[in-house]
Amino acid sequence: MALIKDILQTMEYGPSPESNEHVIAWLGQHEGGFGHFIDGKFTDPSAGASFEVTSPANGAKLARVARGTADDVDRAVTAATRAFKSWSKLAGHERARHLYALARHIQKRERFLAVLESMDNGKPIRESRDIDIPLVARHFYHHAGWAELIESELPGYQPVGVCGQVIPWNFPLLMLAWKIAPALAAGNTVVLKPAEQTPLTALAFAEICREAGLPDGVVNIVTGEGETGAALVGHPGVAKVAFTGSTEVGRIIRRTTAGSGKKLSLELGGKSPFIVFEDADLDSAVEGLVDAIWFNQGEVCCAGSRLLVQEGIAEKCYAKLRARMATLRVGDPLDKSTDIGAVVSTEQLERIGALVAKGRQEGAEVFQPSIPMPAKGCFFPPTLMTGVEPASTVATVEIFGPVLVAMTFRTPDEAVALANNTRFGLAASIWSENINRSLDLAARVKAGVVWINATNLFDAAAGFGGYRESGFGREGGLEGLYEYLVPGHGKPAKSAKTGKPQLNAAPSPTAIAASAEPIDRTAKLYIGGKQARPDSGYSYAVTNPSGKTVGLAGLGNRKDIRNAVEAAAKAGSWGAATGHNRAQILYYIAENLSARAAEFEARLRAMTGASAKDAAEEVATTIRRAFFYAGFADKYDGAVHATKSRHVTLAMNEPFGIMGIVCPDETPLLGFVSLLMPALAVGNRVVAVPSARYPLAATDFYQLLDTSDVPAGVVSIVTGETASLAKTLAEHDEVAALWDFGSTTDAATIEAASAGNLKPVWIGGSRDWTSSDGQGREFLRRATQVKNIWVPYGE
Ligand code: NDP
Repeated sequence: MALIKDILQTMEYGPSPESNEHVIAWLGQHEGGFGHFIDGKFTDPSAGASFEVTSPANGAKLARVARGTADDVDRAVTAATRAFKSWSKLAGHERARHLYALARHIQKRERFLAVLESMDNGKPIRESRDIDIPLVARHFYHHAGWAELIESELPGYQPVGVCGQVIPWNFPLLMLAWKIAPALAAGNTVVLKPAEQTPLTALAFAEICREAGLPDGVVNIVTGEGETGAALVGHPGVAKVAFTGSTEVGRIIRRTTAGSGKKLSLELGGKSPFIVFEDADLDSAVEGLVDAIWFNQGEVCCAGSRLLVQEGIAEKCYAKLRARMATLRVGDPLDKSTDIGAVVSTEQLERIGALVAKGRQEGAEVFQPSIPMPAKGCFFPPTLMTGVEPASTVATVEIFGPVLVAMTFRTPDEAVALANNTRFGLAASIWSENINRSLDLAARVKAGVVWINATNLFDAAAGFGGYRESGFGREGGLEGLYEYLVPGHGKPAKSAKTGKPQLNAAPSPTAIAASAEPIDRTAKLYIGGKQARPDSGYSYAVTNPSGKTVGLAGLGNRKDIRNAVEAAAKAGSWGAATGHNRAQILYYIAENLSARAAEFEARLRAMTGASAKDAAEEVATTIRRAFFYAGFADKYDGAVHATKSRHVTLAMNEPFGIMGIVCPDETPLLGFVSLLMPALAVGNRVVAVPSARYPLAATDFYQLLDTSDVPAGVVSIVTGETASLAKTLAEHDEVAALWDFGSTTDAATIEAASAGNLKPVWIGGSRDWTSSDGQGREFLRRATQVKNIWVPYGE
């Protein structure tokens, strides 16, 4: 038997196929074929012509799908137009909930979608499972946040209308997510046409829309070929066209839509340079190349398909690359140890083959490792072409396959000239240990995305798109969101009560039959993720406005605050978590609060004497507030300041670390959450002192923290006399910032006590937490400190 140490040397390991049983069963249920998904229903597949979808890995028939006609497109646009009326009027918060539900449903079906994608497209399961589908979910989560925030962040902006979206076959579900998530977040409705080769995950997504309760007509999927796409793009009811695909078709679409007033974004091809300098970490660069050109069989618009390597290390780099290529595994996409799967179709296979033959004719030296290749199916070996002339076909045309062409350069200027010697401008990857040089090149290369010592990095929070013939418009982040909005002339509605800009309209409070009976229970403190008895051993009675005792709360003291700060100090990883991870946890809190709304309403009524309506409104607003800051967790961006030339001055928002927060008496649940959430969203840990008068909503809250995956120590809750607890927080050297909104605040005492470590103190005063005054950037700004990082570049 082979020893493990030998296996680690040879890297010989057996096949590890992923089961496709669930997908086969699902395809079996649709044996009769798929119709279009229009107005929340699948149309009858036998209504018109259809075509077969096959697996590129083995030619097996997967399904029959409908070939969309102009009439089908018209019905879909009509449904989307009808749905637009109500969807665009829906409060941002309601749309956020829909997008969030889509994200959750996608996550629940991640493995199914990954297997289906690999079967339909041919990409390795490792990539669909670890990259495509998680990013799909991430896009819906991220844009759930934007749906929530558009009203406050982009006041006056309005949705465009019905969006016609046409996507390619290389990342079928991911391209769908890149298009649908921002469109829906902004209040648009969509008709999407997937590529004829890979329509199946879009159809599974249609089922998810139904399952998740998305209103009918908001998303419509019409399958078909180029003609169907053309009918969609040309439909007069479409107000915005978003296209990803070849530059040729992009050009046709530009001409078709010219003068129509339709908003247009085009994400087209590329021939992106991968530039390796002599001082680069060569092993990392070679691994980078594997990801740049052999990821997704090289069928990636931003693939690093042109290797530009500095002359002195070229032969060494090629040798390492050839050795690495010999270890790549080409084969069954469903095998977890496959590196390169099948290319999408026989046409694409022939196109790649023809271009490689052309390169050979033009004098390139072609290397393909002698590795086992599947006997049938659309497979192409990893290929390296050296000795390529910059003007040759293979150096200028997008091959869209696992083929790397290599050229050399001598100086940085020559690298820039070669990098920019293309009609495209999608992406660039620069490898050097010299940060000055890397940034200098990043500024000079004409590309929409530049990666330094990295490649093919994507995230929903960052815009993606090209310069020149790679198209225009961005997908992802705020830049991408603008593609789906138009500046409106209206201003946000004002509240009749306060005269202030109104928050998203509240969903009507559910009728709650909760009794307002007192709940007699002693609430403990919450420290380090555990309920803790107060060090004093005392509790105090919490009374309602009629003087009736409704519960007991712990009387915290200095020792309890110290314990809480100590627990917070151990929870430092919260600040290092990604904004996305923090967002997920804040959403989870909101979701759990929503599930227990009745309980919290009853608590508020018993404790404060609020009416059923006011209590329901307070809980509903609290849920929205948690959504608001969950939405912000990955969007409170810093900036790049315009300072000196040849400098990048990055203004980074950093959390303080441990914050003390003393909460107000007014709307005690909402006030507490309105302060806690922004601090958490940007990465702080919090020691919170709830209202002394109404502490029980906050102490109930720790059950939500427990069930929402909030790491221990990130939030501690210490009840008691707010004035003395606030002073202890002000004096504590490890508390880096303090917000005091307590009713007993004595600003002079607190500010003087903070002089020890000179922490910033925010004496908040009273405010209307139910209005837009109770949330916004002011809180995020007060929860962060800006660090300016100056990076000069150039040599
Ligand atoms: P296309 O640009 O033809 O296809 C992209 C999408 O557009 C598909 O859904 C296609 O439908 C649709 N489409 C085709 N013609 C029209 C039209 N006139 N109006 C509206 N929509 C249309 O790419 P191909 O699949 O033909 O691939 C050809 C080459 O394009 C590849 O080899 C590669 O070089 C490049 N490409 C680049 C991509 C990128 O992301 N940059 C992605 C895909 C391809 P259908 O598939 O049904 O024909």
